[in-house]
Amino acid sequence: MSPAALRLALLALLLPALAAAEPAPRATPTRPGGSGGPPALTAAPRIAALSVTRVNGVDHVSLREAAALLGLQFSWREGERRLALSDATGKVEFEIDSREVSVRGLRLFLGRPVIARNGAALVSRIDFERLLLARLRPAQLGPPPPRPRVIALDPGHGGKDNGFENKRLGLREKVLTLDVAQRVQALLEARGFKVVLTRTDDRQLAPDKPTDFRMRADVANRAGADVFVSIHFNSLYPDTKTSGTETYAFTPPLQRSDRAWGPIEPDDTERAPAPVNRYDPWSALLSQSMHREVIGALHSLDRGQKTMHSAVLRGLNCPAVLVESVFLSNDAEAALAATPEGRQRIAAALASGLNAYADALAALAPPPSSP
Ligand SMILES: [Zn+2]
Repeated sequence: MSPAALRLALLALLLPALAAAEPAPRATPTRPGGSGGPPALTAAPRIAALSVTRVNGVDHVSLREAAALLGLQFSWREGERRLALSDATGKVEFEIDSREVSVRGLRLFLGRPVIARNGAALVSRIDFERLLLARLRPAQLGPPPPRPRVIALDPGHGGKDNGFENKRLGLREKVLTLDVAQRVQALLEARGFKVVLTRTDDRQLAPDKPTDFRMRADVANRAGADVFVSIHFNSLYPDTKTSGTETYAFTPPLQRSDRAWGPIEPDDTERAPAPVNRYDPWSALLSQSMHREVIGALHSLDRGQKTMHSAVLRGLNCPAVLVESVFLSNDAEAALAATPEGRQRIAAALASGLNAYADALAALAPPPSSP
């Protein structure tokens, strides 16, 4: 068998297995928290019409073709490292062989690097559909979920689980996350949202179990939450220099989490989609809104929008992110979280992010039909 024929034969053998591992088929979206099949991805048919190139078993789409379809300007010459998509609202900049993207000035880490093949710049189809499209042209995602009415806030840690402790300043993460969540709650309730907290005091939801992550998601699901935000503070202790904001969504199916791209980390790809993966594109829109508002309000360093296999996000029936607004292991940033005024600033930024997401969804909804 010639090498080419061998490749084809191998591909034919592999294809059914790969197809089986693809995320659940698309279905009509339903209201988050509602019963029925997965709302799944809702990309409009014209997006589904993009031609697909398989590279090392992974479907990719051409950024030039995607730009043409979305009415974006595409600038790249073969051989150049940097390429950009742009329109009147700004620029989205990619680099060949890099996962890092600048979306109108905000950092985003894709699940796979952008690659150059046969004169085309390619991005993985999962990255395009689940992470990029919401940020490029959310109107192309298909019918949006309704503007959120019920917002679930998750104050990270609690009870025996202190989270990170900055002993020099006497700060415990679990105390600060609850205080910030209650401030966000007050701000959102004043704007007419219904707010549910996964905990309202210093406790673990499952004191006899090692973690209570799943129960936190259950609280939100039972309340019919339309959106979920987990509130944490970051730490890289004993590194006390690192500072900035990170926003995490659950990792899309068939991708590694951001931290699994480290030099010694094992590949943590999960083959089966998690419940929250049904909302990936909307979580991307939420991530972008939260990240922009927090960085804008706190003037913090942009450490990027990333993904992780977060146990607290996994089982949710709505779009969800986890926000690490500042580093408690960095004394300058911890000083912000240490004062009521500082925590109010953080809370106001989180509330603005949720409000911006709600407004973005409302802007995407078709106008109500006249009576
Ligand atoms: Zn934490």
